[in-house]
This record gives sequence, structure tokens and C-alpha cells, in this order.
Amino acid sequence: MTIIETISEMQHYADHWRQQGKTIGFVPTMGYLHEGHLSLMRLAKTRADVLVVSIYVNPTQFGANEDLDTYPRDLARDQRLLESVECDVLFLPNDAIMYPPEYRTYVTVEELTENLCGTSRPRHFRGVTTIVTKLFHCVKPHVAVFGQKDAQQALIIKRMTADLNMDVEIIIGEIVREADGVAMSSRNVYLSPAEREDARVLSQSLQKAQEAIAQGERSTATLIEMIRTMIAQKPTTTIDYVSIVETKTLHDVAQIEGEVLIALAVFVGKTRLIDNALIRV
Ligand code: AMP
Repeated sequence: MTIIETISEMQHYADHWRQQGKTIGFVPTMGYLHEGHLSLMRLAKTRADVLVVSIYVNPTQFGANEDLDTYPRDLARDQRLLESVECDVLFLPNDAIMYPPEYRTYVTVEELTENLCGTSRPRHFRGVTTIVTKLFHCVKPHVAVFGQKDAQQALIIKRMTADLNMDVEIIIGEIVREADGVAMSSRNVYLSPAEREDARVLSQSLQKAQEAIAQGERSTATLIEMIRTMIAQKPTTTIDYVSIVETKTLHDVAQIEGEVLIALAVFVGKTRLIDNALIRV
């Protein structure tokens, strides 16, 4: 695996592959890799000749009181995991090259960024769409893979690439979970044993809602109340939001009908975790 730390070298590699007729698959990450990330990389490899993974903890997607400074990092371990999936290039940019002092440009997707995570993290998605655009210009991928774990992010990236006519196919990989149902996340490492136990309630409450839907429940108010009650019973949890939305617009819906997304964000201790379930009836 080649490690590239400069934009010009990354672009040079990308141009070289493209001249050779090779397709480039790309998985952007913030590192501290887990099986969820690796599943996206395996998916990318089925769709492209070469695999590029970026690790970059992007400061513009963190709010002032968020965990930018403490975000978990372990580059040596990440490199071993990347070797295990036969990643071709690890792109490792830094703040100085991504956001030099004169930097002034941001990419904004409207409306889809306002509710769900956008409410409590107002500038988060602007940071995400900006860095993804920049990374696409460095890596020049034919295919980029994102996780359904961040369902709102996946929708926003798809909207952005379509709206800005970016010549890259966006593929979404399934949520990978721990054996007890907890969605894998780099942030799970922050959890104390008691919090890790309580974190199970996110996926459990989504599961319970899906069972109720299978039994005929269609009122989203009832389902949301059911989920909130279940989560609130765990001592270390504080709910940020529980929403049931239409999958294309992310507008709240009153009834379960067609395709909807049940999305939630919950603080477990100080750690904010998200999870979701896609429902088709
Ligand atoms: P991150 O490093 O958290 O920014 O995530 C990088 C990519 O991995 C994003 O596209 C995430 O949606 C995806 N991802 C994170 N956790 C999971 C998971 N448990 N299952 C599948 N994809 C994930």
C-alpha cells in the first residue's frame, strides 16, 4: 500500500490510473477503522480496479463543543487493517494542505441539511460536503462508497453529486453492527462499560419499532413515543432526536407508508451516537 500525503501526488496517481483505463474506487473516512469501514472498502473493490482510502479528521465538520481534539486515532492499526483489505493507496492529507490560511470556499446543500442531525449540528454537513468535494478533486474516483449508518450524509452526498454534475457514482453500504446490535462507530471507544450496555437500546428500540410496524402499527407519533420511552429508561441516555421521515426529502411523516427512515441520535453519557432503520411497507 502506498501512502500519499500531498494533493499533487494524489492527483498524479489518479491521472496515471485513468490514462491506463483503470477505474478508481474511493472510501473517505476519519480513521480509527472498524469492520463497517472495511465492508465499504470491500464493496468498492468489487466495483473498481484500484482502491483509495482517505483518513482525515476534517475540522470543518465539527462544532465548537464537539470531539475534534479527542477523536480517536491509531494510524498504525489503521494501516494494518487497510493492508488486510488490499487497499492500494492511503491518502493522508493534513489541515495545512486542506485548509491553508487563505481558504474561503464551502459547498452547501440546502434543506436536506436542516433537520435530523442538522438541527443540533448546524454546520456539520457544510463541512462534510466541502471536504468530500475536495477529496473527490484529489482522488478523482469513478465510484465512491459511503455508509447507510450516516443515512442523512449519504442522501446529501448523492444530492450534491447530482446537483453539481460530479462524474462519480455514489454507492451506499449497509450498516455493520456488533454482535449485540450496536452499530459500529469509531466513537464507541468513548463508552464506559455501563454506557456500552445502555448503547444497545438504540438498535433495540429500532427493532421494536420495526416489529410494531410488521404487526400493523402505522402512526409515527405512536412509534416515536415507543422508541423514546424505551431509550429514556436507560440511565446514561439523553435523546437528541427520534424522527420518522420520508427518505427522499427527510420531511417528517405522520403515517408509515411506502419507504421511510426511522432515524435517531442519542447521547450515551457524553458520546453522541446515531442509528437508523430503512422501512418499506
Ligand atoms: P467515519 O470514519 O465515521 O467518517 O465514516 C466513514 C464512512 O464509513 C462513512 O461513509 C460512514 O457512513 C461509514 N460507516 C461508519 N460506520 C459504519 C457502519 N457501522 N457500517 C457501515 N458503514 C459505516
